[in-house]
Amino acid sequence: MTPENIVVAVEEIRDKYSGNLMARHFDKGYFNSLDSQLQQQLTKIILTGIKNPDSQMGCYAMNPQDYDLFSPMLDPMIRDFHAISPSAELFQQHDWNTNIESCDLVEIDPCLKDVSMRVRVARNVSTFPLPGAMTKEQHIAFEDMAAQAFTTLSQNPDFGGSYLSMTSGSANEISKSEYDSRVAAHQMFKDMSADPYLNAAGISSDWPHGRGIYMSRDEDFLVWVGEEDHLRIMAMKNDGNLNDLFKRLSEGLEALEKLLPSFATSKSYGNVSCCPTNLGTGMRASLHVKLPMLTSNGHDVGTLKREAKAFGLAVRGAGGEHSDAGEGGLVDISPIARLGVTEMDIMRCLYQGVAKLWEMETAKA
Ligand code: ADP
Ligand code: MG
Repeated sequence: MTPENIVVAVEEIRDKYSGNLMARHFDKGYFNSLDSQLQQQLTKIILTGIKNPDSQMGCYAMNPQDYDLFSPMLDPMIRDFHAISPSAELFQQHDWNTNIESCDLVEIDPCLKDVSMRVRVARNVSTFPLPGAMTKEQHIAFEDMAAQAFTTLSQNPDFGGSYLSMTSGSANEISKSEYDSRVAAHQMFKDMSADPYLNAAGISSDWPHGRGIYMSRDEDFLVWVGEEDHLRIMAMKNDGNLNDLFKRLSEGLEALEKLLPSFATSKSYGNVSCCPTNLGTGMRASLHVKLPMLTSNGHDVGTLKREAKAFGLAVRGAGGEHSDAGEGGLVDISPIARLGVTEMDIMRCLYQGVAKLWEMETAKA
């Protein structure tokens, strides 16, 4: 696409898709002020939002430095998504003190004991470009490096487990059927080449080379390799205790961090992620909860989305982003805020939000 075509395409999207933040904040004057090399770099970053006009954010960074390099375009988008005023100073703080207060779902209602809980953080190392700009060789080299870290981690009795790879011919390669069953169990990520948002950004290129998952012996600490970010590090449990869930992630993250090159961070935005929605903590904490009354048995998620927003929560389908509600109104709820809040703010938001939604659900039952 020529620079002129880019400008026309983005302006058309702005008129038709008010939710596309890339189009909303694209400034023709700024774009035209860049030299042709920078224009090409910025075009690669925003191409996903042009090819997918229904995108919410509509861009993916290709290198950690992009957030500074293209700050006149990206900073207003980031502030818009994260509801941070243009003049507010940005400084990401962290708080992993999981003992602050009890966040046990059983205290809301014993029925919530078996709810599936997941908390993940996005991390990227500073020694590789972000996934959209990685070559096949870099995907494989990154995976080799991560697999070595997992070999060491698995010798720690608190973790154990092993690394499962999708790379054909690799020592850790798993079969197609094992991959499918891990996807069905919500442990492994889906076929990225079927995702138009990732495809347009080059993030799914060379799939499934360099992709895989580490799983601890108890399958409660997991690490995705080569999905939307270099690493998605997560804890999954289903005993109702959010404090323990976050503690497991905190301990795993600390142990893994020592075995890898330093993670990419930004002075203003904390942990760097490909998608600006994940900057800051990089954290999404979610519950898979059945809300049949609030979703008309899973047929209407739109109403719940609007109601949950008032509590700072987003609603996804039971198969993750861009999926539908599952049987019995099974949905994925998670705090929207990731930047400018701490990890413990997110835990508290999820706990307090689900308490409110559950009260609404049971009042209607
Ligand atoms: P993220 O972007 O946070 O990594 P996605 O929406 O892409 O999450 O979903 C990734 C996978 O994780 C999907 O299979 C989804 O169903 C699963 N998942 C998310 N939250 C939970 C949860 N609380 N319990 C079980 N599976 C979950
Ligand atoms: Mg995702």
